[in-house]
Amino acid sequence: MAPGSLHVAKHPLIQHKLTLLRRKETSTAEFRTLLREISLLLAFEATRDLELRTAEIETPLEVMQAPMLEGKKLCVVSILRAGNGLLEGILDLIPSARVGHIGLYRDPETLQPVEYYLKLPDDLDQRVVIVVDPMLATGNSAAAALSRLKAAGARRISLVALVAAPEGVEAVSTAHPEVPIITAALDRELNDHGYIVPGLGDAGDRLYGTK
Ligand code: URA
Repeated sequence: MAPGSLHVAKHPLIQHKLTLLRRKETSTAEFRTLLREISLLLAFEATRDLELRTAEIETPLEVMQAPMLEGKKLCVVSILRAGNGLLEGILDLIPSARVGHIGLYRDPETLQPVEYYLKLPDDLDQRVVIVVDPMLATGNSAAAALSRLKAAGARRISLVALVAAPEGVEAVSTAHPEVPIITAALDRELNDHGYIVPGLGDAGDRLYGTK
C-alpha cells in the first residue's frame, strides 16, 4: 500500500457482506459475524506489502528457498470499543499478531476525542502497526490514536476502517499523510450528529446490541 494512499477494497465478497451489514434489519449476531468476515478480508488487503525474507526449508522432496514474513510479529491496535469488532477477524488471519488497545470516546458536544485507556506492546518501533476503527467519521479519534502511537514509537502504521467519510479521510490524511487508509467504502458525508451517511449507524451499538 503506497504511503498516504486511500485504498477502497472493491473485492465483491467485501462489498456484498458490507451491504448485508448496513441493512437496518441485520441482527446483532449477523452483524458480528459479517464484521468478522469482512475484517479478515480487509486485513488481507492491508497486509499486501508486508516484507518477505527467504528461508531455507525442506519439503518431503527437497530443500528449497521459500518466502516467510520478515521482522517482528505485527501489532493490531483497536480503537475501543467498536475496533474490537474488526480485531477478531484480523486475528483469525494473523493469530500471532500482538494487540494494543486505545480507548477514546467522542465528546458529544465537541466531537473531539478524549483518551481514557491505553495499553500497547513494547517495541512498537520495530513492528508494522495496523490500527482498526470501523467508522472513520470526523477522523478526530483516528488521528488522535495515530498521534499517540507515533509518540509511543510506531513508525510503520496503516489504518483499517470499515466505512469512511470524506471528512475523516481528509482529516487523517492531513494530520498523517504517510499513513495508508484501507476501507471497504467511502460514503457520501457526515450528518449533523457526526454519523456517516448512508453508513450503518453506530457500529458499537450494532456490534454489542446496546441500542
Ligand atoms: N461512529 C459510528 O459508529 N457510526 C458513525 O456513523 C460515525 C461514528
